[in-house]
Amino acid sequence: MPNPTKSKPKPADATEMTQLVTRARVRQFRKRRLFTMREFAYALGYHANYIRAVECGALPVSRIFATKFLKLEQDTYSKQIIQSRYILPREVLILAKARKCAGCKRSVILPYANQKYCDATCRARATKTKRKEVRQ
Ligand SMILES: [Zn+2]
Repeated sequence: MPNPTKSKPKPADATEMTQLVTRARVRQFRKRRLFTMREFAYALGYHANYIRAVECGALPVSRIFATKFLKLEQDTYSKQIIQSRYILPREVLILAKARKCAGCKRSVILPYANQKYCDATCRARATKTKRKEVRQ
């Protein structure tokens, strides 16, 4: 039986959801997860032609597709490892893109736009190797 305390999603949420799932986001997710068109289609329960049509804009993002896509995205990202130097609250909205540290090449979310290294050790190591490269 459905939980009576949980309210049903309003139609406004559904519209928002289909707007949230853009074809660029679908493609980006597929490429980043290294899914082939067929694998991605299978994971979502669609035919590859349908996904292709959505990605190139021939078909609009349906509500069902958006729901399935968001679920797959959430499942995928929930398996990812997030490490933080600070205590994280239960729910966090990250407003910056993860970038690769110029030193250790790990994906990091840096506090400053011009920051290249995740910490001082990384910077020191990177500048040392740079100096070596110059000498050769
Ligand atoms: Zn680093």
